[in-house]
Amino acid sequence: MADERPSLYDLDLPQLEALFRRWGEPKYRARQLWTWLYRRLATDFEQMTDLPKRLRARLAEETRLYVPTVLSTLESLDGETRKDLLLLEDGEQVEVVLMRYIERRSACLSTQVGCAMGCKFCATGQMGFVRNLSSGEIIAQALHVQRQLQAQGRHLTNVVLMGMGEPLVNYENTLAAVRRMIHPQGMKLGQRRITLSTAGIVPGIYRLAEEGLQITLAVSLHAATDALRSELMPINRRYPLDKLFAAVRAYILRTKRRVTFEWVLIEGVNDTPAQAEALARRLRGMLAHVNLIPLNPTEGFAGRPSTPESIERFVGVMEAHNVPYTLRLRRGGDIQAGCGQLRRRQLAQGA
Ligand code: SAH
Ligand code: SF4
Repeated sequence: MADERPSLYDLDLPQLEALFRRWGEPKYRARQLWTWLYRRLATDFEQMTDLPKRLRARLAEETRLYVPTVLSTLESLDGETRKDLLLLEDGEQVEVVLMRYIERRSACLSTQVGCAMGCKFCATGQMGFVRNLSSGEIIAQALHVQRQLQAQGRHLTNVVLMGMGEPLVNYENTLAAVRRMIHPQGMKLGQRRITLSTAGIVPGIYRLAEEGLQITLAVSLHAATDALRSELMPINRRYPLDKLFAAVRAYILRTKRRVTFEWVLIEGVNDTPAQAEALARRLRGMLAHVNLIPLNPTEGFAGRPSTPESIERFVGVMEAHNVPYTLRLRRGGDIQAGCGQLRRRQLAQGA
């Protein structure tokens, strides 16, 4: 039978306080526990030495503190990127990536097991949808990375919600996890250092604009005409480009935040001058930035990454139109740090 005890990582601070109130515990105990979970990164009640023994025993009895275990790890050759496959309580698996750059240490977190969006080039899309992650399962990934960094005397500076899954389809749990990441008594991450990436769930973008948050929105665009985008990303049939851009403009107006557009460069498909021109037209006058990333090839998609010549031509169009862009070279390409690829390999090996 499923374990009905509440998972501590699924509760926010007022919920923890309510639980302790029911137990007749003073309110400050909840704050203490919160600090153990999110600041001191405890993995066991026994570590929480400033909580009375009987309270620790009761917590162990009546709540869950599940810390995901690592099933396998891939480290990139340059040592900058590490990807862990984590085991969840029900046997499902998600991947979390740690990227170490000079000034920042970023965690790439998953929000779902699988994804229902079905983008053709994406390993997670090819796998289909399994289930949403709880807010606790999302935050536990950030804590996992934080523990690794702490062991090296460092700490996490950035979070990107760009692992497996579509965050705006798992809206409540994702937002609850984000609020836990930025909590001043908890992980205390900077809002602007958290990026939420979406395939373009239009109602979710409008809703996010009203949250009063300063996180960064990234939109996976990948094509600037409806015909091509619908082919690559089926969600475009439901939310075509005009509707998507209206939502993004509203988001910018409301939050005053610059939006990032992700563009995976696929040779001969979306790296043509016509697509580059169409993209530049769409972005004219917008507070936007384009992230260009050569495709990470996946088994289920025949496309290839753009050649250096095609990339140069595409970038030339961006420059001619003064579109701000970053060309991201394939960090972690050798460990398949593109989303969903580690889990797929594991499944293929029958693990
Ligand atoms: N579902 C969200 C977030 C997860 S995907 C979204 O789609 O935005 C994170 C990013 O990885 C997206 O920009 C996605 O388009 C990109 N991506 C997916 N498959 C890829 C691949 N094979 N190579 C490079 N980037 C990929
Ligand atoms: Fe889902 Fe994002 Fe992959 Fe598309 S790119 S299938 S939305 S995870």
